Amino acid sequence: MTQQHKEDICMHGGEDRSLHYGAVVPPIYQNSLFVQDVSHTEASRFSYTRSSNPTIEAAEVKIAQLEMAEAARCFSSGMAAISASILHHVGQQDHILAARGIYGPTHVFLAQYLKRFGIETTFVDGWCAEDFEKAARPNTKLVYLESPGYGVFRILDLRGIAEWANSRGIVTVIDNTYSTPFFQNPLQMGVKIAVHSATKYLGGHSDIVAGAMAGSSDAMQTIALQERSLLGACMDPHQASLLTRGIRTLPIRMRQHQESAMRIAMFLESHPKVARVHYPWLPSHERHELARTQMCGCSGLLSFELKDTSVDYGGFRSKLHVFGYGPSWGGFESLMMDFRLSEADAAEMAIPYGLIRLSIGLEHPDSLLEELETALTEV
Ligand SMILES: *Cc1c(COP(=O)(O)O)cnc(C)c1O
Repeated sequence: MTQQHKEDICMHGGEDRSLHYGAVVPPIYQNSLFVQDVSHTEASRFSYTRSSNPTIEAAEVKIAQLEMAEAARCFSSGMAAISASILHHVGQQDHILAARGIYGPTHVFLAQYLKRFGIETTFVDGWCAEDFEKAARPNTKLVYLESPGYGVFRILDLRGIAEWANSRGIVTVIDNTYSTPFFQNPLQMGVKIAVHSATKYLGGHSDIVAGAMAGSSDAMQTIALQERSLLGACMDPHQASLLTRGIRTLPIRMRQHQESAMRIAMFLESHPKVARVHYPWLPSHERHELARTQMCGCSGLLSFELKDTSVDYGGFRSKLHVFGYGPSWGGFESLMMDFRLSEADAAEMAIPYGLIRLSIGLEHPDSLLEELETALTEV
């Protein structure tokens, strides 16, 4: 079978109009309960929305196809998917290996929360299988990855790390939010589970908080029955419908995010006040070549460091008007954030002091360049 184009999956994957009177947009099954029609021999596949619902399932099939996974499940948020993927694989006295420089709340969940249950995490500073192997213990049950990572977008050798972990029977989970399944398919490189904050590019319109997970049918089914159902981390049908709508435009959005981000990354790199730009698609990125072998494109999230970190960051922010100041990213709107962590936190999270992060939205790139230029000149 020829490989399905991702654009076609985004438009039509997981949808069957014949089930809905030909409606081109699947309806929202805004109901908690499905009663069984006792006169029919075939029972409804659905019973209770905490377990599943046709609107949620439509989004799940699309995401599974995009990730080239056997199955996918949606969650109430990215953190719900992440915590479920981790909790499912560990128990008392188990050990986790995680990449350093991952999403902050995930780091806190691993480093602090899980300690209550006697589960310890070692954060690995390196990028390849040998670095993870050195930190492994006999009780290591899970390798948790994020590539590109958070902050400076470190690239990990996904094929190498997955091959090593698989040979040791250790489960691998990756946060694939940065790339989305449109630009990177970790399961094709041997990673077992991909998790997403669908709040970001998959949703794409900053109007939902949502999460997703993709992997084998068995793993997805068990996690849905256990962590998702028992901890109540289920998606709401209305949220699922907005997610499906967001995914339809994923390909064109991602191409535009990349094109604009690349222009801005190159502009910043040539600016005399900028010390370093972090963007995996720049040839100057530490592991640009590796990134090219794992990703087929790069998102709109980049960061940079000023040569002088004693500048007035508030003054810099006040010169930006198209860029909103705030957390999150992956929506249509451009955003900036600066990170001025204590030395200890900066080292723990692998975020250099004074790092400025830009989420490049879908505005005209000239508008973004112009105001960045002004802000940099005046700072
Ligand atoms: C935002 C984010 C999350 C958390 O997702 P929520 O939907 O906010 O729970 C996880 N990982 C990454 C990389 C993120 O950016």
